Amino acid sequence: MKVLVVEDEPAIRESLAYSLKREGYAVEVAATLAEAEEKLTDVALVILDLMLPDGSGFDLLVGLRRRPRAPAVIVLSSRDSEADRVAGLETGADDYIVKPFSPREVMARVRAVLRRSSAATEVATTPVIPLTTDPETRRASVSGVALELTRVEFDLLHCMLTARGRVFTRAQLIERLWGDNFAITDRTVDSHVKALRRKVADAGGAPGLIETVRGVGYRVSDSEGVSVEPSEGL
Ligand code: CA
Repeated sequence: MKVLVVEDEPAIRESLAYSLKREGYAVEVAATLAEAEEKLTDVALVILDLMLPDGSGFDLLVGLRRRPRAPAVIVLSSRDSEADRVAGLETGADDYIVKPFSPREVMARVRAVLRRSSAATEVATTPVIPLTTDPETRRASVSGVALELTRVEFDLLHCMLTARGRVFTRAQLIERLWGDNFAITDRTVDSHVKALRRKVADAGGAPGLIETVRGVGYRVSDSEGVSVEPSEGL
């Protein structure tokens, strides 16, 4: 699997490249956004610094999220603010690492992110509820209407959809989507669920598709208990 390290500080870039190669990954490096754009082919994961000489890593992240089969992204930044972390994750990053970091920590995150992104390859559909997620193309739809989801929203929906009816606690969703990331709070999960619900509703999906189970967490309803809009009376 190929990993692209986008970082303008040579010492950090080389140390990451060294650690990744030692773990058996193929590695490409880039010092600028422009260079990164040219090296994205067949990359499974991008480790992305946010402050680069020719712009913000966020710009690359936003562009990547529009592509089918986009690589996973771990954002690197020296800015340790909650706002940046949330922005990074809402823009579609899979994980977030604040500098300074240990190579060991980064490798653990790399393994976790790659395991998650290659794990679920099954297309999830519901028999009664017309929700579909296809992890190969990263496309999701409700009643055939495409949903424009961030990576996190997609993973959240896919995770709940492949085990519909099952209730996931926020802690379980955090574990599934982010691994051992202490930066992620229950509130982050709630805000992603809220955004996901709004998008499903905007696309014509029933509001009750993603249920809140009070005091426990969330689930995608199975057939019972979901009010699918009746098609009669057209
Ligand atoms: Ca930098």
